[in-house]
Amino acid sequence: MADFGAADQEAFRAEVRDWLEANYPAELKDPKAKTDPEAIWGGRAFAGSDDPHIRWMRTVAQKGWTAPTWPKAFGGGGLSAEQARIVEQEINRGGYRAPLASFGLWMLGPVLLEYANEAQKAEHLPKIIGGEIRWCQGYSEPGAGSDLAGLQTRCEDKGDHWLINGQKIWTSYANKADWCFCLVRTDTAKKHEGISFVLIDMTTPGVETRPIQLISGESPFCETFFTDVKIPKGNMVGQLNGGWEIAKRLLQYERQNISGGFGGGGGAGGAAGDLAQIAKRYVGVDETGALADGDLRTRITKNKMDFQAFYQTLARVAAEAKASNGPSAATSIIKYAAATFAQERSELMVEAMGGRGLGWEGEGFSSGEITATRGWLRSKGNSIEGGTSEVNVNVVSKRVLGLPDPK
Ligand SMILES: Cc1cc2nc3c(=O)[nH]c(=O)nc-3n(C[C@H](O)[C@H](O)[C@H](O)COP(=O)(O)OP(=O)(O)OC[C@H]3O[C@@H](n4cnc5c(N)ncnc54)[C@H](O)[C@@H]3O)c2cc1C
Repeated sequence: MADFGAADQEAFRAEVRDWLEANYPAELKDPKAKTDPEAIWGGRAFAGSDDPHIRWMRTVAQKGWTAPTWPKAFGGGGLSAEQARIVEQEINRGGYRAPLASFGLWMLGPVLLEYANEAQKAEHLPKIIGGEIRWCQGYSEPGAGSDLAGLQTRCEDKGDHWLINGQKIWTSYANKADWCFCLVRTDTAKKHEGISFVLIDMTTPGVETRPIQLISGESPFCETFFTDVKIPKGNMVGQLNGGWEIAKRLLQYERQNISGGFGGGGGAGGAAGDLAQIAKRYVGVDETGALADGDLRTRITKNKMDFQAFYQTLARVAAEAKASNGPSAATSIIKYAAATFAQERSELMVEAMGGRGLGWEGEGFSSGEITATRGWLRSKGNSIEGGTSEVNVNVVSKRVLGLPDPK
């Protein structure tokens, strides 16, 4: 939209507000509403489900607002970045649930829009927008994490199909996903130029997943094995041996998106609630009503200010990305910052709670205390997932600051 002035914005905001109010399922207004916690991820497991969250997701998807800026031709909302931000703000303001969490929305879809052929876009984008297919990311391997281009999973041309053999690791939710976007080796003589980007249906014979248990007690990711897995020729995105460029682009979208999720609330590794208020409850207040421990007060205030500045930067970087050609290497700055602040916040939460911030389970601890402990343990992964902090600092020095490689 060329000219979207203040009056247009307010008119659009009112329209969005009315629509959300009219369409939010009544059952979900009750915070104790019975809904499957996995429903937000959608996927085949919920095909035909009458779960109220799934009904909400489908209603928003029909409007195109699960992917507000994607083209209408594929079922997206066709909105400008500014309008999309208003939709997001109104969902948050009204306390409505986010309709859909999806690796398809956050990572795969944007690169399909850039690199896929028309048949691939028509096949996959509407199912991502509708939450019909849950995707996982098959990048890391036991010998290829930070050095991702060292990956060894083989993909051979067998004439009428591709044949895949190898192993992935740390594949988040692979055991729950319907499809996997995967990096494979199609040329063993070259490193970066021997990689291709393929799409694999997880029900294909020869695909096996084994969950890995974490210190937080959860099993959010798996080892994924491919043994003589045959996939159609049409499942390769972009050129043969041209997958590295797509892989890097997807990582930029991933870093941009997960940085938003590390926020000050209950995001990846965080614990819900206002840190300062929680600290006051556990530590106590002085005669002025301020947190009694001055040192802790300073560190909590600094963390809150860092988050505030971070959110402003995030909004600016997102606006710049949408106004230009998508995200850039600068996403490594926000990924690094988000991981650092989220880990600090989790540490401060546990510190403020004292011994009670180390509750693992049982009636002796409140659910907030257990969440704080587990969130603190989960937050250890924030500086690893989506590229480690060290690697992101390398990207910033090389691609943002233009510094030379160390000799
Ligand atoms: C919660 C979570 C979810 C994940 N989900 C997925 C997923 O869905 N799909 C997927 O494919 N992967 C996933 N991963 C894997 C993740 O991408 C890798 O763990 C990450 O890229 C690091 O690789 P690595 O574990 O092999 O560590 P390594 O690469 O072996 O790194 C070990 C250490 O060496 C440091 N290091 C390595 N190279 C350099 C360098 N050049 N300069 C400086 N330091 C360096 C690293 O920073 C790190 O501290 C997930 C990881 C986590 C924690």
